[in-house]
Amino acid sequence: MTHLSEMYQSLGIEREVWEFGEKICGFLKERFAEIDETAEYNQLKVLQALQKNRVGEACLLGTTGYGYNDLGRDTLERVYADVFHTEDALVRPQITCGTHALALALHSNLRPGDELLSPVGKPYDTLEEVIGIRESNGSLKEYGVTYRQVDLLSDGSFDYDGIRRAINEKTKLVTIQRSKGYQTRPTLSVERIGSLISFIREIKPDVICMVDNCYGEFVERVEPSDVGADMVVGSLIKNPGGGLAPIGGYIAGKKECIENAAHRLTSPGLGKEVGASLGILPSFYQGFFLAPVVTAGALKGAVFAANIYERLGYQVIPDSRESRHDIIQSVVFGTPEGVISFCQGIQAAAPVDSHVTPEPWDMPGYDSPVIMAAGAFVSGSSIELSADGPMKEPYAVYFQGGLTWDHAKFGILKSLQMLIDGGVVKKDDLLSI
Ligand SMILES: *Cc1c(COP(=O)(O)O)cnc(C)c1O
Repeated sequence: MTHLSEMYQSLGIEREVWEFGEKICGFLKERFAEIDETAEYNQLKVLQALQKNRVGEACLLGTTGYGYNDLGRDTLERVYADVFHTEDALVRPQITCGTHALALALHSNLRPGDELLSPVGKPYDTLEEVIGIRESNGSLKEYGVTYRQVDLLSDGSFDYDGIRRAINEKTKLVTIQRSKGYQTRPTLSVERIGSLISFIREIKPDVICMVDNCYGEFVERVEPSDVGADMVVGSLIKNPGGGLAPIGGYIAGKKECIENAAHRLTSPGLGKEVGASLGILPSFYQGFFLAPVVTAGALKGAVFAANIYERLGYQVIPDSRESRHDIIQSVVFGTPEGVISFCQGIQAAAPVDSHVTPEPWDMPGYDSPVIMAAGAFVSGSSIELSADGPMKEPYAVYFQGGLTWDHAKFGILKSLQMLIDGGVVKKDDLLSI
């Protein structure tokens, strides 16, 4: 038994489902070739940074205790700075997640009396408490940092007049979220981020421009720091960790911004000099090395899913043809059964915990039950194939990741099989192409 369709059948994918997937893949050859070329470019970019900084075996060893003179940690930060074309970077396991990295960048670069501006609408949910949009212990608001927001216009474009009016003598830092997160607005391309930054600089040259780069790293050949961002910030259990980093976050940017962040992460007077890397550096280096190709696999999965479900009549965001600037895909099923079957299919395709069945539950912090599918080697990692959906209108799932394209493909076929088994999608619909 070496035929692919039989292998899929032995994993519960019916022949008709597999054939439907093959037809869709046939339409995507050019699209995938483009994604591969971007991965190739970015692979070389990372390799060049590793070589330039003379990464050697000694860099893979860790330190303990204070972590003074941690060669591997300091060299890795040079590597990140070179890939993002920034003056410096902070890449640490002591940064616990993406939210922490963003909070760190904000808290360390803002002072009482300063104002923070988001010119692209509401930021990611977890930042609401960091900023104090929702009251929270230790928020920027508690420290006397005010916040202003200018929403995107209804067609998704920047509200330039509104932004001009919002910038004032207190405006110190502008936060721009690249990925749409759980909103329906489009994800911003690096080019659009660049024009927004130029516009803001014309009005106020010394404002700090920070980009929440979560889910965007290596999707394009350039990063926001190539178009004027003073800081780019992200999580290592998303794209740049390549699936191998088990924890961590990064900030890459201007020397002064990074110095501020380091002194806040550790302590005034200590900065970057402390922070033992323990045994974690091999996963950080190797994950970063693999990240361009891992991101490409996740991206192909997102494009594949958009094409599968759009053809079956569902609304998909981004749509089947749109250019991509992050790895998130959403599919609007319109019914609870659709969301549940999709997530159960993703779970059933996982390398870890494939035998468990996810169900909607009342998660803290959400206003409706949420179903989550995640069978990951690293807990909560969303560069690994994962999906979730709130049980409320419009009954959409958000999914992302896949450490390899083959696994992302299998997961999406498995979701489709579940939808067919559950009677949500009719098998006859597969024959219509
Ligand atoms: C994931 C994400 C965050 C927060 O990262 P966590 O690691 O979950 O704390 C922030 N912003 C965006 C756009 C994200 O996708």
